[in-house]
Amino acid sequence: KGDPRLKAISDAITVVPHFPKPGIMFQDITTLVSNHKVFKHTVEIFVDRYRDMDISVVAGVEARGFMFAPSIALGIGAKFIPLRKPGKLPGEVISEAYELEYGKDRLEMHVGAVKPGERALVIDDLVATGGTLSAAIRLLERNGAEVVECACVIGLPELKERRLLNGKPLYVLVEPR
Ligand code: AMP
Repeated sequence: KGDPRLKAISDAITVVPHFPKPGIMFQDITTLVSNHKVFKHTVEIFVDRYRDMDISVVAGVEARGFMFAPSIALGIGAKFIPLRKPGKLPGEVISEAYELEYGKDRLEMHVGAVKPGERALVIDDLVATGGTLSAAIRLLERNGAEVVECACVIGLPELKERRLLNGKPLYVLVEPR
């Protein structure tokens, strides 16, 4: 709070009304990651928070979690693992379904991508209902990892207040614009 970097991050997000469908206020982070200074600040805030938390795994949620998670992983000296949409990973996978506004989707993770007891951080660009992050948490836990926290650049105020997701803490930098 009061960190001028947070205002710069918020200002760098573009809101696109009615994308991809009517009523959705789409939070476009392409204008954040294309601003070198703001992108660097975003990664730095996460790296400063997580570097001394004994985290060995940073899991990114496809697709926009992939824009932040690898940089954070490198910054804290952890490995990066992708949590992917169905049918993308070539090895043996475990799968978790989650609810969307209309219908269902799934996330998949390679079996053996984490070792039992490894401490994991989950990264996505935005949390709305928390359904996606909850599926990510279940995947990591089914593979024996301990989820330390979930973190997003953008979070809705309601969820931000509670800061809880399947009993796991949630950390967000800014609210939707
Ligand atoms: P949820 O599972 O409801 O928390 O939704 C979060 C996922 O949907 C994230 O992977 C986001 O990238 C995407 N998402 C949901 N709402 C928006 C929005 N208004 N703008 C951009 N992405 C969104």
